Amino acid sequence: VISLRGRSTAVSLRSPLPHDVWSVTTDPGEGGPRRALLSSELANVSTARFDLVLGRPGSPLPVVPTGNTVVLPDELGHLTEGDVIAISEDGRRISVLWRSKANINSLLLTERCDNYCVMCSQPPRDVDDSYLLDRARTVIDLVPPGTDAVMLSGGEPTLYGHDLIDLVDHISTTLPGAGVHVLSNGRRFADPAYAEAWARVDCPGLMVGIPIYGAEPTLHDRVVGAVGAFDETVRGILNLCALGAAVEIRVVVHQLTAPELVAIAEFIARNLTFVDQVALMGLEMMGLARANQRDVWIDPWEYRFELSDAVRTLLAAGVPTRIYNHQLCLIEPAMWPHAVRSISDWKTEYDPACASCSVVDECGGFFASAKYKTSSHIRPVHAVGTTVVVPGAGPIRAHGDLASGWPEAGSTSTSTEVIVDLPERGVR
Ligand code: SF4
Repeated sequence: VISLRGRSTAVSLRSPLPHDVWSVTTDPGEGGPRRALLSSELANVSTARFDLVLGRPGSPLPVVPTGNTVVLPDELGHLTEGDVIAISEDGRRISVLWRSKANINSLLLTERCDNYCVMCSQPPRDVDDSYLLDRARTVIDLVPPGTDAVMLSGGEPTLYGHDLIDLVDHISTTLPGAGVHVLSNGRRFADPAYAEAWARVDCPGLMVGIPIYGAEPTLHDRVVGAVGAFDETVRGILNLCALGAAVEIRVVVHQLTAPELVAIAEFIARNLTFVDQVALMGLEMMGLARANQRDVWIDPWEYRFELSDAVRTLLAAGVPTRIYNHQLCLIEPAMWPHAVRSISDWKTEYDPACASCSVVDECGGFFASAKYKTSSHIRPVHAVGTTVVVPGAGPIRAHGDLASGWPEAGSTSTSTEVIVDLPERGVR
């Protein structure tokens, strides 16, 4: 886990900091507005070109009468060139908004939401946090020009209406070529005028990720805590797709949705086959998921067959499908090619058992929140040459050679282990 927050260990300011968002540079020649110089030799640093100098952890705080100096805590020692941070005006509180080396950076736009999902990892709060939208725009202005992906999340970002569309437009202009992935409950797009404005944005890499939690309204509306949400969400998806906007459907699998997983896949395969992709996602045990643990937790091992059937159903309908946030030893080996290392690197952890696992480099690991609840079926996978052995997998329903594609549908075995040939997957 990589820390994204900390308190400075020493501060020397001429006056309160003039603004909160700063980009980090290690180049003393790269001064300018909102540039913070990161250095370990504060005594020798000329602060004339910088409004703020950041000392690396452990740096002694020099007397810099003409400059603002903040010494970072140990947990923020990972800060580097191209990162973007926010600092309180007294220089004490520091949070990381953008990591140039992250596998994906997500900008939280609001904590407000018109859904109240039973497993929400970011529980909605009815607060005016519109400063987050302005802050996101500033961050986009400061990130390295070659940035290739931005994720916008909430809460529900579309509560900003056309201001969200303006932000997407700004990203597209500032970072041409960057993929922009927006997480939304999709309800706002039921308004044809809003969907049309969205589809008109000139942003080739734009995709909106929208959740569906049931094959019919009752379950979906129960999961999201809003009557009528299913109808609005599905209408939103239809409107967007009719206008050529890219849509990903996200299905978080938990105790309520797991039994309906195949039915949800069939619903998508029958009615929404034109979406760009489907992500079947593991549960993050944070926020309301922790509070409602008894209602939502299910060991992924318990629904591994349903997960495989859902993937097969969607692929057979021609819908690109991925498995997010699942550990390889908890899903059927035949599904490994569809599993993505999707957990943000700053909150990825591994079980102690993973140390001896041959596919640890290919497995996405766990959310840091797995410490609150995790599967009791974690089993290291062992390699023998280019073959891996998954112990304790039986009885298994199907297995096969990953390199040659799908295993035989419906085949069964009472074996207690499965052998999968992985010649191209870099098994250690
Ligand atoms: S044991 Fe291996 S497959 Fe299982 S979670 Fe750990 S790294 Fe992933």
